[in-house]
Amino acid sequence: MRIAIFPGSFDPFTLGHYDIVNRGLTLFDRIVIGLGRNSTKKETFPIREREEAIRKIFKDEPRVEVQIYDSLTVDFAREVGAHFILRGVRCVADFEYERNMAEANKNLGGIETILLYTRPEYAHISSTLVRDLYSYNKDISAYVPNKLR
Ligand code: ADP
Repeated sequence: MRIAIFPGSFDPFTLGHYDIVNRGLTLFDRIVIGLGRNSTKKETFPIREREEAIRKIFKDEPRVEVQIYDSLTVDFAREVGAHFILRGVRCVADFEYERNMAEANKNLGGIETILLYTRPEYAHISSTLVRDLYSYNKDISAYVPNKLR
């Protein structure tokens, strides 16, 4: 069985993330969305709320699971029996970052990273953008999956 983790902060989970998971399901039998506890990043949406929200989004998709983790990403992958890390790439800056992470995760845990290019219509969407809009009480419905609207 091909299992991948899709790790990130997902603060909040956007349409871009949603698209990567759905496309990932054509490659993997199971995807475990790993909500990383990141002590250096200040959270906007509490992690338990994010977990609940993502679970709700995929409630009809038994092949997708959500878990909070605070270990090293390769250790989390090993814990859930995953041999792959799924990530999305929007731009050159993402690419450089992902290349370093992929190399580290391959060396640390023998885990392969599979990158999917963002669809152009979602390339400008980031959790940061959504958080900014949210903090000014603006409508975020164009950027998040239906069930979060
Ligand atoms: P991190 O804090 O680890 O960067 P994020 O929650 O910001 O986590 O993102 C998780 C993954 O989703 C990353 O691989 C990121 O490049 C990807 N991603 C973020 N926004 C988009 C988007 N709009 N389209 C596709 N992939 C995206």
